[in-house]
Amino acid sequence: MSAIGIFGGTFDPIHHGHLRSALELGELLGLSRVHMIPCHIPPHREQPGASAADRLAMLRLAVEGSELLIADDRELQRPEASYTVDTLRDFARTHPQQRRVLFIGVDAFAAFTRWHEWQTILEMADLAIMDRPGAVLSAPSQALLDEREVDVLPDDGSTGRIIRRRLTQLDISSTVIRATLAAGGNVRYLLPPAVRDYLQTRQLYRSASEIH
Ligand code: ATP
Repeated sequence: MSAIGIFGGTFDPIHHGHLRSALELGELLGLSRVHMIPCHIPPHREQPGASAADRLAMLRLAVEGSELLIADDRELQRPEASYTVDTLRDFARTHPQQRRVLFIGVDAFAAFTRWHEWQTILEMADLAIMDRPGAVLSAPSQALLDEREVDVLPDDGSTGRIIRRRLTQLDISSTVIRATLAAGGNVRYLLPPAVRDYLQTRQLYRSASEIH
């Protein structure tokens, strides 16, 4: 049974930290595909962000030509923000023959035990935790990791195992990219050229004073 990677994020915008991590981890784990899934932006998140259509368009540009990474818009197809557990259920329906490995940055994993139905997530997938510069684990997540960490993910029908990898560390965040653009700064080499061209053409993340 082959396995797929599931990498969700706001991707506002997608950058080389996401892309390089997705590629390295997918190759390391021998996955057939890594599905990159933009989520709805919850209303409490910092604004301005790009629209769902723009975030998806940038993701598509970023993964164009990759045999491993694919842009997957299944969460944006739904009217509201999706819980990860529901996305996994959707994969069980669309990809019944494939094991699921959920990619999570260590900063996001720190809150994992507060996620909706997190125990069910562990019944439906394995987790792959990606180290990220400066991010540390919370005590509950560390305890979960201690209980479930493995070195390899054998194809024996189990789920709920956790693998943690230190990939190439790129200290890039969408927050800093948005702030740089809002201040009129240069984001070259932080994200793919096609994404940079797109956000410049559409004047995304620019402060209102600059646009008018
Ligand atoms: P923001 O700054 O807007 O919070 P972000 O750069 O953290 O955005 P997200 O789209 O929120 O990006 O992240 C999606 C996933 O990618 C999360 O699991 C996050 O931990 C991981 N991730 C983001 N940036 C990096 C990076 N530079 N290295 C490794 N993992 C990353």
